[in-house]
Amino acid sequence: MPDRIYNFSAGPATLPHEVLVQAAKDIVNFNDKGIGLIEMSHRSKEFIEVVDECESLLRELMSIPDNYKVLFLQGGASTQFAMVPMNLLPPGKSATYLNTGTWSKKAIKEAKLFGNVDVAYSSEDTLFDKVPLPDEYEATANAEYLYFVSNNTIYGTQFHQFPETDTDLVCDMSSDILARTVDVSRFGIIFAGAQKNMGPAGCTVVIIREDLLNNAPDSIPTMFRYKTHAEKGSMFNTPPCFSIYTIGLVLKWLKNLGGLPSIEKMNLEKAELLYQAIDNSDFYTGHARFDSRSIMNVTFNLPTPELEAQFIQEAAAVSFDGLKGHRSVGGCRASIYNAFPREGVEKLVDFMVAFEKKNS
Ligand SMILES: *Cc1c(COP(=O)(O)O)cnc(C)c1O
Repeated sequence: MPDRIYNFSAGPATLPHEVLVQAAKDIVNFNDKGIGLIEMSHRSKEFIEVVDECESLLRELMSIPDNYKVLFLQGGASTQFAMVPMNLLPPGKSATYLNTGTWSKKAIKEAKLFGNVDVAYSSEDTLFDKVPLPDEYEATANAEYLYFVSNNTIYGTQFHQFPETDTDLVCDMSSDILARTVDVSRFGIIFAGAQKNMGPAGCTVVIIREDLLNNAPDSIPTMFRYKTHAEKGSMFNTPPCFSIYTIGLVLKWLKNLGGLPSIEKMNLEKAELLYQAIDNSDFYTGHARFDSRSIMNVTFNLPTPELEAQFIQEAAAVSFDGLKGHRSVGGCRASIYNAFPREGVEKLVDFMVAFEKKNS
């Protein structure tokens, strides 16, 4: 077996090694009970404890107020693109969307199936290299909600100031949930696929203010109503057991590190190392504008596509995996989520300096 490589993948993404080791053991024999985690009934006492602990850790780490429900759903973050307007956007009503990349575009497309969509801001004409400040757009009057993507995984941009509006904020936080402290009470809904910063694929966490559970029209199918899942503690049907369990392990790991204030500091330092390397060089160019830079996904280009291909190839040879940028922007992307070790970032910086010397 090779030594563990540095996994810069945007998602599914690197997880703490100790979490993987524990999960591998529990898959075969959960808590030494003689039964494997993934063959256990989701209604068993043991598994209900797993779900309850996962939820209470998430509540504790994010300081989720009591008037919010936490749901563990399936269908990926992409299902939320439809589920949000299904539940919150009745025909004839309007919602405001901020278009800051592929994931918001997809959400806009789905929302249009249900109601009026006002795209109040778009950075598409500059290949989504920035996110807006609160005064750069206006929410539609009487909008049901304002929708935005807090971290644009593909382009490497991130909101550092959340939108200010009287209506409810709905946020796709898939790629930066748990990366920094956030005031949950400012949001109507926060949702996130697990596979970027929380655990393995298969589970989407939805944090929803309780009063919004009653907004869905009668025509919405049972499985697509938030209320269905809220009333049954995410056990209306079989939940994504393995993913929930592993999220719980990741949350424990995060709590032991000191929670969100500690991880935020570590994330800022890791990102700073990479951005400094980019800023100190004429060889590497960052894709995101300075004020919009993400602390989770660092996107950059080299002078030519040929050099980028060579960079990615030589990086892979020294155990840096997943540095190829998304096909829609090209270039390189280093995803440095919570579980990505600082040491890996330092080694990448050394590699970048050496590569530049050799090739510029
Ligand atoms: C990855 C990602 C998605 C899509 O998630 P799926 O679980 O694959 O549907 C949506 N939004 C953001 C911000 C993402 O990074």
